[in-house]
Amino acid sequence: NRPSAAFAFDNSYAGLPQRFFAAQMPTQVAEPWLIKLNEPLAAELGLDVEALRRDGAAIFSGNLVPEGAQPLAMAYAGHQFGGFSPQLGDGRAILLGEVIDRSGRRFDIQLKGAGPTPFSRRGDGRAAIGPVLREYIISEAMFALGIPATRALAAVTTGEPVYREEVLPGAVFTRVAASHIRVGTFQYFAARGDTDGVRALTNYVIDRHYPALKEADNPYLALFEAVSERQAALIARWLHVGFIHGVMNTDNMTVSGETIDFGPCAFMDAYDPATVFSSIDQHGRYAYANQPGIGQWNLARLGETLLPLIDDEPDAAVDKANAVIRAYGERFQTHWLAGMREKIGLAREEDGDLELVQTLLSLMQAQGADFTLTFRRLSDLAGDEAAEPDFAASFREAEASRTWLSQWRERLSRDPQTAGARAAAMRKVNPAFIPRNHRVEQAIEAAVESGDFSLFEALLTVLARPYDDQPDFAPYREPPKPHERVLATFC
Ligand code: AMP
Ligand code: MG
Ligand code: MG
Repeated sequence: NRPSAAFAFDNSYAGLPQRFFAAQMPTQVAEPWLIKLNEPLAAELGLDVEALRRDGAAIFSGNLVPEGAQPLAMAYAGHQFGGFSPQLGDGRAILLGEVIDRSGRRFDIQLKGAGPTPFSRRGDGRAAIGPVLREYIISEAMFALGIPATRALAAVTTGEPVYREEVLPGAVFTRVAASHIRVGTFQYFAARGDTDGVRALTNYVIDRHYPALKEADNPYLALFEAVSERQAALIARWLHVGFIHGVMNTDNMTVSGETIDFGPCAFMDAYDPATVFSSIDQHGRYAYANQPGIGQWNLARLGETLLPLIDDEPDAAVDKANAVIRAYGERFQTHWLAGMREKIGLAREEDGDLELVQTLLSLMQAQGADFTLTFRRLSDLAGDEAAEPDFAASFREAEASRTWLSQWRERLSRDPQTAGARAAAMRKVNPAFIPRNHRVEQAIEAAVESGDFSLFEALLTVLARPYDDQPDFAPYREPPKPHERVLATFC
């Protein structure tokens, strides 16, 4: 390993007790090739962009471990589709270390697919190019949409095959996260009866993510409330853009409030609350409309791990934790409705708003309306009456939206904004572009079949400005044609 000073690492997780992780070097690969380096992000993180351009293939494949890194695999547990595994851990991810960005925020730099670790079980420690490109595209799209998410720093191919249902090119994804601490990290220690471990982890999380809570009367209960609040806000944002995470296992839910682990995730085209894409989610546990409830279920699992810290008296601890779990429902509903009000252009609250939103959603479902296009066209209509035919065309029957539109206009007459201001505000919350599943699949296919990354690059370009019209990219707005439709996604 040649030294490389591209990162000014400032590692804190490696200073936690030994049992929190396993020190683990990445495994060398045959022939690394840099698909993409996210230069703006690298600059924001204060990294040496020149050095990364030069040595990126070696660094982001794991072949060259940069100076100051303390590579490790994190220990965690988790409920997967409702069943508990006391030990999962980073089976193919290796945390290189942490850096402090230009605004003073701490971030993890993690290689995903960098070889086996003590947590690999029967896995190969590797990633295939498809999921790597998917995670790159979707995490950057989420960032541009304004939704908290881990980010993509780089992607490389390894020059080695990986064996899945078929033989695929291997790749490594470099992820940047506020941290990789999950609900499942707490569960790992709780499942072992290791209350000291839970306490050390909790104190670390408060310091790193919620420092203001150190002053709270009961910092542990306050942490549980704060995580619930961030998850309620996050999952509401997912619903506002039609995002379906796909694997909301407790090991895939962060305590920082960032979206993480974009395995079989996808965005919905036609609005249907029961939409599921993931090939492994056979019972629809993680369907679009189930996500808020699953968030609550996962938070209950976090709360269980915190009980001994919340109160010495077990019954009192349960009561306090339960109050937080119950309050989550209202927190979520508040965030969700606030965002839906914005989506239909309402600046002020009124009692009937929920019904107005629900009527539109029911109509969209019954009429096979595309989720993204409908709200974008409504934004256009808010500023220009001439856009009504376009909006109406979102529905199978052109007249279907007429009654709802008259209710909406009547409601708008009592709302303070001018038409121009309303349309502008709506266009900032109703994207024109989302990473449509068929586009993501086309980009992956071109890369796998012919080493052609031009579709991948085009998608990144258009998705960097999801709220701008970008007429040159008009076809990227469109839902799939019947023959383009993607029905299942794979991890
Ligand atoms: P995921 O479903 O990707 O969130 O991963 C669940 C668990 O499986 C985690 O402990 C991962 O580290 C592990 N895992 C997933 N893929 C692999 C792989 N190819 N090799 C080793 N471990 C893996
Ligand atoms: Mg260790
Ligand atoms: Mg995971």
